[in-house]
Amino acid sequence: MKNANGETFMIREFHTPRTVDAAVALRTELAGKACYLAGGTELGSTAFRTESPQEVISLAQVLSTAISADDGGLLLGAGCTLQTISVSENVPKVLRDAAKLVANRNIRNMATLGGNIASNKTFASMLPALVVFDAQLELADAGGGRSTVGIMTYLGRGGRELILAVRIPKKPGRRASTAKLSKSANDIATLVVAASYVPDNDRVREPRLAVEGVADHVVQLDSIEAWLEGSPLPSRDAITDRVSDVVTPKTSIKGSAEFKTYLAGTMIADALHRAAADTRKVNA
Ligand SMILES: Cc1cc2nc3c(=O)[nH]c(=O)nc-3n(C[C@H](O)[C@H](O)[C@H](O)COP(=O)(O)OP(=O)(O)OC[C@H]3O[C@@H](n4cnc5c(N)ncnc54)[C@H](O)[C@@H]3O)c2cc1C
Repeated sequence: MKNANGETFMIREFHTPRTVDAAVALRTELAGKACYLAGGTELGSTAFRTESPQEVISLAQVLSTAISADDGGLLLGAGCTLQTISVSENVPKVLRDAAKLVANRNIRNMATLGGNIASNKTFASMLPALVVFDAQLELADAGGGRSTVGIMTYLGRGGRELILAVRIPKKPGRRASTAKLSKSANDIATLVVAASYVPDNDRVREPRLAVEGVADHVVQLDSIEAWLEGSPLPSRDAITDRVSDVVTPKTSIKGSAEFKTYLAGTMIADALHRAAADTRKVNA
């Protein structure tokens, strides 16, 4: 097999632990040599994988695939496939929409939520939507403990711990929207955006904005969120200009820096205005 840099490697051992603790212990013991395998759609893809493991630790018998709700919000097992999420009526529409942004049903049938987060790609379809829902990740720590961290914290520190579940905190009235720009429906994204806020009469409260495709990883637009907080929703043009001032994409085969800058602005503006027009209480 080859990794994304063209280097050849061979997987020599395939481990099938039956418990979370056994999986974590194996990963600790095989540090630097092994990685977790969930749906395998990234790890099995020459185009996308960045790891070259000598051993893999299957999560097939370890991860929950359940989706449940309680007073605190929604809990999605990290083993849920993106296809399951895309059709689950218990999941807020915007998270279903985000899952549907992923390539095609064949990929969605295998790709897991945990894998989409952990791979932390700049085109990962679920990440902006999870960020604007303030997703919390339940992790299995190397020492055998469990912890919960915000998704941006996990991604910011390189995200190596085993993700067990994703919690979407309850936020009555939150409105949200997500969108992807790609050259074809099957292509990975040039840009993915998501926006959410809680309407308070005609004011914007607790805005959350996230964009992919303008940096190596998903970016949360904190300064734009601060600008929006407590204001009436600005015009599309005003939002576009503000966002264009703060994103710094690079020119790539997918488009020039100017093209991505402008589109990041218009897509965030559209996402916010689409969210405003959607009167459903998506996360009540
Ligand atoms: C043709 C094709 C098209 C694609 N299109 C898209 C697209 O449109 N949008 C998109 O977002 N992605 C796309 N992908 C990439 C991929 O399908 C997704 O990122 C997918 O969600 C990865 O999940 P997985 O379960 O297959 O991960 P795997 O390939 O099993 O693992 C990916 C990485 O995550 C780690 N990992 C997996 N699960 C966990 C966990 N629970 N805790 C910690 N680490 C974990 C693994 O060690 C590995 O490093 C595409 C892939 C292919 C092959």
